[in-house]
Amino acid sequence: MFNRLYIHVPFCVQKCHYCAFVSNTPQKNELLDYPALLIRELQLRTSGTCPVTSVYFGGGTPSLLQPQQLALLLEEITDQTGIQADAEITLEVNPGTVDEISLKQFRNAGVNRISLGIQSFDDRFLKIMGRIHTTGQSRQTFKNARAAGFNNISTDLIHSLPGQSLDQWRTELLQAIELTPEHLSIYGLTVEEGTPFARTYSADSHELPDNDLSADMFELADELLTGAGFEHYEIANYARPGYRSQHNSGYWKRDGYLGLGVAAHTFLRDGYGVRFSNPGNLEDYRQGLTSGKPVRIDEHQLTMNEAMSEYMFLGLRLSEGVCAQTFESEFGLSLESAYGSIAADLVQLGLLAKNGSQLTLTRRGMLLSNQVFSRFL
Ligand code: SF4
Repeated sequence: MFNRLYIHVPFCVQKCHYCAFVSNTPQKNELLDYPALLIRELQLRTSGTCPVTSVYFGGGTPSLLQPQQLALLLEEITDQTGIQADAEITLEVNPGTVDEISLKQFRNAGVNRISLGIQSFDDRFLKIMGRIHTTGQSRQTFKNARAAGFNNISTDLIHSLPGQSLDQWRTELLQAIELTPEHLSIYGLTVEEGTPFARTYSADSHELPDNDLSADMFELADELLTGAGFEHYEIANYARPGYRSQHNSGYWKRDGYLGLGVAAHTFLRDGYGVRFSNPGNLEDYRQGLTSGKPVRIDEHQLTMNEAMSEYMFLGLRLSEGVCAQTFESEFGLSLESAYGSIAADLVQLGLLAKNGSQLTLTRRGMLLSNQVFSRFL
């Protein structure tokens, strides 16, 4: 059914100006009470399941949890499903919410991977984004995480920020490399509806880098990071050998995962797969748990066609792409008969490459990935 666990903590110190994730500043005892709700949901949803191979605390800002709360959650997961001995246990950390002592306590609780939301090494951009930390705090948090014993640290960076030049982006990348993380996630800014950024920057705003400059930034990241020894293993992700994100790789390989917490998404490997999400509002989430029946929003049992489509557009995100043999053993149908003419067309356009039984995105295909994926819908 599932072998991975995602836990959403929907609280942040303050809302960043570009953020469309489900997160709010916690009111009264909300943060204090939240782990008990997660434990209740875990108990209601996990009877008779197998040990999980990864746990990911995301948000929001899960590093706002007290280390003792997180330790309690991991103990409960161990009791309810079990956690494999070599499981990857990731905590997203917002610089400015932890210190060396709390990081040590998180490490002792069982967290073995940190995903650090640095976003930029330029204080002016951090301010524009409404982040709560400075570059100095990001660097100190990274140093503290190392001192606390974390040898698997990922950092996030955002490009295509308002007014950002290619040279400024180069400086950001060089500083990220100098920090020596094991993993980097690189995102281009997207202006999401309903955010303060959407009110400030219209679609044709001249302050935002245009598509050509964004593409140059994507390519510069690829050039500098692969040159520094990182594998570009997924469109937005780079890792030193042996340090790919196990949990996120599971999403792209369609592993089953259970999402706990407000607004968390779940994918169960029943039939061709079942997807649903939790209520996006704390009160609705709480009520479902109190009644003993956690609410499933937008529950959908996938058809074979939908599952094949997902297999393609998720698998193609990875550098190894999709494998014709695996496709056939999963769906009892050859990839050629399902998507032969579409794949041939995309190869012709230089967006896909065929290598034996593997089909992968080309560099150009990565830049135009949404166009490629839409062909498999
Ligand atoms: S810290 Fe992350 S989740 Fe919280 S508001 Fe900022 S971008 Fe959104």
